[in-house]
Amino acid sequence: MSEITTDIVVLGGGMVGMALAYQLSERDSDLTITVIDKEPEIGRHSSGRNSGVLHAGIYYPPGTLKAKVCVQGARRLRAWCENEGLPLLACGKVIAPQTSELDGQLELLLERGRANGAEVRLINHQEFKQRVPDGRTASGRALWSPGTCVVKPKLVMQRLEQRLRERGVSFALGATVCGVSPDKRQLNLKHSGESSTLSYGHLFNATGLQADRIAKVFGLGHDCTLLPFKGLYWQLDPRAPFNFTTNLYPVPDLNVPFLGVHVTPSPDGSISLGPTAIPALGRENYRGFDGIEPLMALEFLGDLASQWWRNAGGFRQYAREQALHGLKPLFLKAAQALVPGLRSDHLIPSQKVGIRAQLYDRRSGTLVQDFRLEHGPASTHVLNAISPAFTASFALADLIIKESSLASH
Ligand SMILES: Cc1cc2nc3c(=O)[nH]c(=O)nc-3n(C[C@H](O)[C@H](O)[C@H](O)COP(=O)(O)OP(=O)(O)OC[C@H]3O[C@@H](n4cnc5c(N)ncnc54)[C@H](O)[C@@H]3O)c2cc1C
Repeated sequence: MSEITTDIVVLGGGMVGMALAYQLSERDSDLTITVIDKEPEIGRHSSGRNSGVLHAGIYYPPGTLKAKVCVQGARRLRAWCENEGLPLLACGKVIAPQTSELDGQLELLLERGRANGAEVRLINHQEFKQRVPDGRTASGRALWSPGTCVVKPKLVMQRLEQRLRERGVSFALGATVCGVSPDKRQLNLKHSGESSTLSYGHLFNATGLQADRIAKVFGLGHDCTLLPFKGLYWQLDPRAPFNFTTNLYPVPDLNVPFLGVHVTPSPDGSISLGPTAIPALGRENYRGFDGIEPLMALEFLGDLASQWWRNAGGFRQYAREQALHGLKPLFLKAAQALVPGLRSDHLIPSQKVGIRAQLYDRRSGTLVQDFRLEHGPASTHVLNAISPAFTASFALADLIIKESSLASH
């Protein structure tokens, strides 16, 4: 049994964990930092399975953590990707109402975006048609966000890992955490067949879909649990008679933290449609029966039923409009609200599927909308790192570091 000592442990090598390691190593090159991930390679979960959209910061109510970090985070990540020569499509984004009743939300989003410091403006039907000739706006108006861009998430992750290794950050990939002693600041690890004890100065829990479970070991977050919502995508058949050069998003239901089925062009020339937001039967239940957690699924169904009963946050509307988008005809109907000419045979199944690490607050019976940071003994826990945590990661990491030192001094 070997003994290792490190100043900082980052548990979870997703975008949040790696951005934390990156910002920490930038501040103090003498810090010893160890990133631990249970998977043999980085990017196996949300950070490698998302839409790759660097959001401009339009949706989030001013004052929330999301609002505080999204605009800055997007600018910094974009500049970093450009500096690294990574593929990036600077294509902007159009947000269009699917029904005329949703037109009023455009003003609300415009106000929020401007208050958050995002560049955004209203456009008329003529400009909408110039930007998205094959799209539809129910009211004749839409929002235009010129700063939104799209990256290839896995390539971003791989380059970040490379830069971290060059800075001397250690990675323990494929490692299992067998025990945690928060008071002793120690982890018991199994890695490459060897057991070790890792002593740390501070631990950052950035384990995404598992973050609430780790937080509970530190005596935190007992009021909440994670509900996994699956995001399935379809690819647009390249032979389909459409020309999408920008993102096309619906006006979202602001009661739930999902942005709705949208059209996203990728830097590699492909066009994806999605993602859905359907209940998953396990936190890592990406396909079929893989990763099903029967107990969790039962609890999840109970939580969904309770949400339906209370109708907290307009939950019934979500259930009616989004919960069944795993069925192709219903997915197609949602997509047709934005792209009326779309037909079933234009959609090719996509390999990409992601699961949102969505936190559920059991006391209020609501889906938590904002990021949540919890502070425990020599540890900081990042809960609810849902969208736009990828976009915001650099600025979010700075905020987490600031709050963690405030909390521990
Ligand atoms: C379908 C979908 C589309 C999205 N689209 C966008 C988008 O366009 N733009 C955007 O900004 N955001 C988007 N998001 C959100 C974004 O992907 C996440 O907010 C972000 O990737 C979260 O990063 P993370 O590091 O917290 O989590 P993850 O990437 O899930 O990383 C967590 C890591 O922790 C590891 N881990 C878990 N448990 C343990 C353990 N016990 N020990 C060691 N390691 C462990 C996992 O293996 C994983 O590598 C989307 C999400 C989904 C699901």
